Amino acid sequence: MTIRLLPPDVAAKIAAGEVVERPASVVKELVENAIDAGASIIGIELAEGGKRLIRVSDDGHGIPAAEAEYAFLRHATSKLSTVEDLSHIMTLGFRGEALASIAAVSLVTMVTRSRDEPAGTRLYLEAGELVSREVTGAPVGTVITVENLFFNVPARLKFMKAESTERQLIGALISRYALAYPGVRFTLMHGRQELLRTTGSGDLRQVMAEVYGADVAAQMLEIVQPEGERLRADLPYVRVSGLVGQPALSRSNRSHITVFVNGRWVQDSSLTYAITQAYHTMMPAGRFPVAVIMIEVPPEDLDVNIHPTKTQVRFRRADAVFSTVQRVVRRTLIEGAEMPAAHDDILWGAPDWQARRERLAEVTRARMSQLGIGMDVEDEGQFTRHEGRASAGQPASSEPARRRSSLPFMRVVGQVGATYIVTEGPRGLYLIDQHAAHHRILYEQLMAQRAAADIPAQELLEPIAVEVSAEEMAAVEANLAGLHEMGFVVEVFGRSTLRLRAVPAILASSDPVEALLAALGRFEGEEMPGDVSEEERIAARISQQAAIKAGQTLSQAEMQALIRQLEQCEMPQISPQGQPTMIHISAEQLAREFGRLGAS
Ligand code: ADP
Ligand code: MG
Repeated sequence: MTIRLLPPDVAAKIAAGEVVERPASVVKELVENAIDAGASIIGIELAEGGKRLIRVSDDGHGIPAAEAEYAFLRHATSKLSTVEDLSHIMTLGFRGEALASIAAVSLVTMVTRSRDEPAGTRLYLEAGELVSREVTGAPVGTVITVENLFFNVPARLKFMKAESTERQLIGALISRYALAYPGVRFTLMHGRQELLRTTGSGDLRQVMAEVYGADVAAQMLEIVQPEGERLRADLPYVRVSGLVGQPALSRSNRSHITVFVNGRWVQDSSLTYAITQAYHTMMPAGRFPVAVIMIEVPPEDLDVNIHPTKTQVRFRRADAVFSTVQRVVRRTLIEGAEMPAAHDDILWGAPDWQARRERLAEVTRARMSQLGIGMDVEDEGQFTRHEGRASAGQPASSEPARRRSSLPFMRVVGQVGATYIVTEGPRGLYLIDQHAAHHRILYEQLMAQRAAADIPAQELLEPIAVEVSAEEMAAVEANLAGLHEMGFVVEVFGRSTLRLRAVPAILASSDPVEALLAALGRFEGEEMPGDVSEEERIAARISQQAAIKAGQTLSQAEMQALIRQLEQCEMPQISPQGQPTMIHISAEQLAREFGRLGAS
């Protein structure tokens, strides 16, 4: 076969295939153009999942009559003119190929009117060829209608998915743009059915409620990052904002983690990983958070010109971006984590929960002061913790000593069933699982000692020989250093025998053989969630083994000591396995359950 240049129409269809894969990709490009045009209202209409019709209308700046045709030329763009421009792109589009690609494989009508012109232009194209052009009356802005997508590409047409699939994809897509641009009013219609409507108020939490419902929106924590905070002076400033879900609000997959970089939705597994890592030990294994995170970096630190669909980016300092995201999200979770409340629905289920909550708080406060109980229901921040150990692996200089305990000061009331400790705090009653709480305490102590390379070991009077399975032997050999670091002194002694010389001091009172086997995971119940190092797993197992068990009666002094230590923890509400350590019953709930609300 000889080498020949492709005829222009074939080349156009091939190029179009890179950008226009399915109806959702058409919607994406048209909506991005509308956003780039500065629109504050964007309407999307679909028929048959977009296969028959896609119409996107906006109130942006429009296109001047003299330039309208250029919009459909390949590599024609108003957003870029020199190579240098590529290194600081602020718009979503820049390649100038979307409209050309869409037009090549469909029937397109565009009505547009520029802000500075008295009349609009209507263009009609078939398979990229201009068929008609006329002057028309139109409001400022642009309406693009794409009909019969892929009518001239039978191969593509064959692979089009069911209408419902496309509709769902487009729904998800528009939801993401709505979240990224809370100031834009979006409407998505499928035929006469309204799939999504946002108000464009600019309030992210409100969009969250419109997309995910009020319940989810109420459980989101706002990311607060001090202005200009940098990881290190020599790294670029990375601004992180948005909403992250409380750990209790988990999902079975990662698709509810939405990330925008400079206003562009990106799919980046490292960023997703950084976010899920921030939930480390706070969420059970196999569960993922709900999060909407906006990252802003200087445009020159970002390369968006990697793929025609522009959903991938490359950072100049990826390490700075990932660490900042992880740090900021984790801090938000630690400062804002709420413990699971008993009968949450009683108080929070109502649609007007915000107003209701405020009223309840007010009433309760009034009653409490009437009764002479100085409970300040609203103020959670009045009990500050004394700063504990700096957590491992963080540069000491960059973390100012202003972390607030998420646990209020608590008074021990007593023990129930030799399993739960009952306490009273400023916001009501707390039931604490003594084993889970002690597990958390010992785990954090162990990790802090490890960070300081100072885990006390208890030498055994006589070395003990331990018989292990081949699998356990392999585990020991693979983790000899880790075990050692944790306070085990163990030697391999023959094919299936280990010699144990010392155990971590916290396990001094347990059976040393059991302690070792526990560390190896033989008694593992549910394992630690998320992606954790083997050392962390060992630490979690050791601390679980050493923690006081359910059924153990505790003296008042012991309970007091346990609660004080729990207050020192970084993540007091959740065990290292991701289970709650405590349940909170608020003063409001108590008052309500007893029918005291509203009564005087
Ligand atoms: P790009 O967005 O990469 O520039 P497109 O093919 O998507 O390329 O659009 C080509 C040009 O058409 C844009 O640069 C812009 O000037 C103009 N354009 C497209 N859609 C709109 C719109 N909705 N409002 C105003 N101008 C638009
Ligand atoms: Mg574009």
